[in-house]
Amino acid sequence: KLSIIPSKSHGIRRSQIAPCVLKIALNLQQAGFSAYLVGGAVRDLLLGLIPKDFDVATNATPEEVHKIFRRSRIIGRRFRLVHVMCGAETVEVSTFRGPSPDDEDDPASIQQIDQHGRLLHDNVFGNQEEDAKRRDFTVNALFYDPAKEEILDYLNGYEDLKAKKMRIIGDPVQRFREDPVRLLRAVRLAAKLDMQIETETAKPIGDLAPLLQNVPASRLFDEMLKLLLSGHALSCVVELRARGLHHGLLPMLDVILEQPMGERFITLALQNTDERVRQNKPVSPGFLFAILLWHEVLSYWNSLQTTGEKPLPALFKAMDHILSLQHKKLAIPRRFDAVIQEIWAMQPRFEARVGRKPFRLLAHPRFRAAFDFMLLRCESGELNTEYGDWWKAFLSADNAAREKMLPMQA
Ligand code: ATP
Ligand code: MG
Repeated sequence: KLSIIPSKSHGIRRSQIAPCVLKIALNLQQAGFSAYLVGGAVRDLLLGLIPKDFDVATNATPEEVHKIFRRSRIIGRRFRLVHVMCGAETVEVSTFRGPSPDDEDDPASIQQIDQHGRLLHDNVFGNQEEDAKRRDFTVNALFYDPAKEEILDYLNGYEDLKAKKMRIIGDPVQRFREDPVRLLRAVRLAAKLDMQIETETAKPIGDLAPLLQNVPASRLFDEMLKLLLSGHALSCVVELRARGLHHGLLPMLDVILEQPMGERFITLALQNTDERVRQNKPVSPGFLFAILLWHEVLSYWNSLQTTGEKPLPALFKAMDHILSLQHKKLAIPRRFDAVIQEIWAMQPRFEARVGRKPFRLLAHPRFRAAFDFMLLRCESGELNTEYGDWWKAFLSADNAAREKMLPMQA
């Protein structure tokens, strides 16, 4: 069942792997353990992509790994693994894991699964083949041996990769139930890798979508952030929506996308984000969430104003309201609040183009983000494009010309 792909067929060269990671794997092998590069990095190298991170899998226990590398520490509760420091990098070294017991007569195993079939613990050590099987997709279960330069493939992942098929390992329903985040990973990775989700894998996805509601909000947030920063955010969001997966994690998306202006705003913003990511420019999560939530703020802001509230206090109330809703649903960490609030709160200030006001706005440390945000509002048709044009002209003018653009107020 195990197939071994020699280096002349797979084409991965050792020089493509961070020297640190090679050293760690080879050190483990010298100490008498087996050690492989595994998961996303092997997959990405085979596809000609540059891996984001390298993971090493070994039959050494976390304690044994820790003993070999002075600069390392054991981390994690759900998955215990070792972070080995190597210069400025950290490499994740994990011990082969086996199947979690699913013997119904064993009370210990029942505690490991919640009532929806979700795995609560996954920390039983196993052999290499078992470690391959507990991974999510066949293309994610390839091992690369840096000494022999061979790929070890227990699940036909190499063929699936060549055929560009994302196939879940084992029974799709059971594997998605064990960990519903795999539903999102299927969509995100298919977009990133330009692969198709294989038919049997794709079939149950729509029906299982509600299971995402049982996933801890913080994990959903992490996965959502990965998706939004993947460089394929737009196609991911379109795909999530097509498969009915967006309800649990972007509850507001339905509402927003129903309004043509909202849909356009988000589409433009995600296109923009994808371009930045692909050009290796920084993208601020705060900016992204400010975008995703803006039309919610707008509609709540409008409703407050129709009940007679003054515009500015109403905006601040709306901001607070929408943010606190999202803390519960998506667990947007509070460290992003300040950015999100500043971007929103600056929006009305783009409309006040008198006296010294535009100069003060320009000097705001978050001006650039708020300005980009305002341009998206113009492009989507929500704000009169005249504002965007005026501000673009104001930015590119010198000081004297700027003064002339401003009617002085008494
Ligand atoms: P990327 O890093 O590009 O987002 P990845 O596949 O490397 O994709 P990681 O989160 O880095 O994703 O996970 C590393 C490996 O761990 C995966 O390739 C897969 O083998 C395994 N894995 C990750 N998440 C799961 C999961 N939810 N269920 C089973 N295996 C998983
Ligand atoms: Mg990875």
